[in-house]
Amino acid sequence: MNERLAQWVTESKRIVFFGGAGVSTESGIPDFRSVDGLYNQQYDYPPETILSHSFFMRKTEEFYRFYRNKMLFLDAEPNAAHRKLAEWEQKGQLTGVVTQNIDGLHQKAGSKKVYELHGSVLRNHCMRCGKFHDVAEIKNGTGVPKCECGGTIKPDVVLYGETLNDEVVSGACAAIERADLLIIGGTSLAVYPAAGLIDLYRGSRLVLVNLSATPQDSRADLVIHEPIGKVFAELP
Ligand code: NAD
Repeated sequence: MNERLAQWVTESKRIVFFGGAGVSTESGIPDFRSVDGLYNQQYDYPPETILSHSFFMRKTEEFYRFYRNKMLFLDAEPNAAHRKLAEWEQKGQLTGVVTQNIDGLHQKAGSKKVYELHGSVLRNHCMRCGKFHDVAEIKNGTGVPKCECGGTIKPDVVLYGETLNDEVVSGACAAIERADLLIIGGTSLAVYPAAGLIDLYRGSRLVLVNLSATPQDSRADLVIHEPIGKVFAELP
């Protein structure tokens, strides 16, 4: 167990966790930038292109082929990291989870205060009439999913070229600004504007838990290059 982190956790009342795709790899969901991540697999287009607003609008069927195969892991279960964060919130030690993930696993683990910067695959709406559609409808269908009204259904996922939701961002900012311990985990900190939010932290306990080095390692007060599920499983 990392004793220093364990002690900081015990002493903290306003922990905020800022995470990314690496939080869910131990649940079987591939991230983007690891060696076996999506960016190192071969497709007709780079994932950044497929997951962009303009690609969605122009080549919707191709978007959905990739999306169904590579982004929808509806049977995935939370791992020790998701579960520990939910536990801290229940005990009144954690004020929020700010995530770049779109898989809904924090909520599945029991977390309530989750700021989903990039939306969620679990919510889908018709672009014409706004009707909500369950994710199972998207997963089990073929081709471009359509609403009864004839409109195209779009996942509530922030694609490249789209803006983040203001309300989610301001909630995340407020939580980070007031945090007494900020733990950043499972993120390459390469995707902006999300990664910029950690600059709002004013405390003196900035912890980074990530398998590989990140551009922010040098400013962290504690850096742990180990699997996050393993690290969190051992924490109080
Ligand atoms: P990323 O792929 O850029 O980086 C993931 C980081 O996590 C890497 O630095 C890697 O070393 C680290 N990592 C992988 N497994 C880990 C583990 N078990 N323990 C600790 N660290 C681990 O992901 P990102 O920074 O989140 O940014 C990319 C974008 O990916 C985000 O916008 C997000 O929306 C999207 N995404 C989400 C999911 C998901 O919802 N699960 C999956 C893939 C991509």
